[in-house]
Amino acid sequence: MKKPKFYQLTKDERLATLVEQGHLSQTDADCLAAAEPLSDEIAGNMIENQIGQYQVPLGVVQDLLVNQQVYQVPFAIEEPSVIAAANNAAKMARANGGFVTEQLTRLMTGEVVLEKLVDLVAAKAWISGNNDHLFEVARAAHPSIVKRGGGLQKITPTIIDDRFLKLELQIDTKEAMGANIVNTICEAIAHAVQEQLGGTLLLSVLTNAAFESVVIASVTIDPATLTTATLAGKTIAEKMIAASDFAKVDVARAATHNKGIMNGIDAVVLATGNDWRAIEAGVHSYAAKKGAYQPLSSWEWTTDQQLRGRIELPLPVGMVGGSIGILPTVQINQRLLKVQNARELAGIIAAVGLAQNFAALKALVSDGIQKGHMALQAKSLAIAAGATETELTQLLPLLLKATHLNTATATELLAQLRAENK
Ligand code: NDP
Repeated sequence: MKKPKFYQLTKDERLATLVEQGHLSQTDADCLAAAEPLSDEIAGNMIENQIGQYQVPLGVVQDLLVNQQVYQVPFAIEEPSVIAAANNAAKMARANGGFVTEQLTRLMTGEVVLEKLVDLVAAKAWISGNNDHLFEVARAAHPSIVKRGGGLQKITPTIIDDRFLKLELQIDTKEAMGANIVNTICEAIAHAVQEQLGGTLLLSVLTNAAFESVVIASVTIDPATLTTATLAGKTIAEKMIAASDFAKVDVARAATHNKGIMNGIDAVVLATGNDWRAIEAGVHSYAAKKGAYQPLSSWEWTTDQQLRGRIELPLPVGMVGGSIGILPTVQINQRLLKVQNARELAGIIAAVGLAQNFAALKALVSDGIQKGHMALQAKSLAIAAGATETELTQLLPLLLKATHLNTATATELLAQLRAENK
């Protein structure tokens, strides 16, 4: 008998396979299988007014090849078809040498803004002339990050609109995303500056436009490997490039192009305990950095007629801090990923974004997006209509043949099925 594919196994069989392959320990697999909720003590102390817990399925994208290393990538996501698409893209990319990533800098930026200063030019000059003092203030504000080899790296004062004095602080937050580290340093510097210069202190906080934490991922695909039963690989590649070009001149398309990228990125960001609101804010501000909202990735021909995809986006993710050390599943997910540091994690996440984009564009320009979605969409509708696991096997083929795939059809067909099975 043919060996079933990973997605055809039951959840327990999938966990057993991951243990067998050495990706998960038995303890971690048992912990995932038990799916225990957080204790009231943890949940109640994490947020205010806690009244319950919210469930999101956790899945895995297998064998994503990034910088010649193979990763099992955890996805926390409620949307059907995202993992299937990423798996498909991971497989194709693997056959073509995988993803290559680079991150030039990994710094967080904070802003300290003052107004109503008597002499903006003199105030700016004071900042430039008193860097040593301000660096000492930053060190004293957060000594432990300095001990870890991080802390304030650069102060850039700018006059904005002849009204504001902005200090941009570049801070190395090491393995943490660093929002709290940055905010602590910003506030200390803000008070020191205001004490000296007067004026009104408007705000001192990090910016989520983490443009000093940009990651680039790329993949090169032999168009022949894209060939389907009905379309030549070269035709698919040509159309993917054209669709990518279109996103550069049509904001409506760029938004959806980027949403597809974020399908995978948010899922890994969430699974690894990172702040997805921060990542979303950063990514979209980066997409709009030149004024017009742009796609985060693009596709082109190389000189030797290969299809090359490239994504560039800020990914200030952390391995420690926030809820990362608190949530047991996040710890398991880090072990499943076998990721060593924040830079490596950011590279994997960028590759996931490009993989997701690859799968979406390929589907769009060949079969259309709905074909692959239909079966999963039908499953969601059937579950929402109340179908049991046993009923699903009978209901799904009927639903997929129906003229209108919607809730009413699912409810009606389920009722018919139950009447017949009585
Ligand atoms: P934390 O405040 O938890 O700080 C991380 C801590 O981890 C450090 O202070 C450090 O403490 C410790 N640590 C241990 N090992 C390391 C290491 N190798 N490198 C760096 N730090 C290490 O988290 P963050 O500062 O990262 O802030 C992230 C949180 O802030 C998230 O929960 C986010 O949602 C939230 N947030 C986000 C905002 C935004 O995005 N706009 C605004 C405000 C908050 P020590 O050195 O003392 O051991």
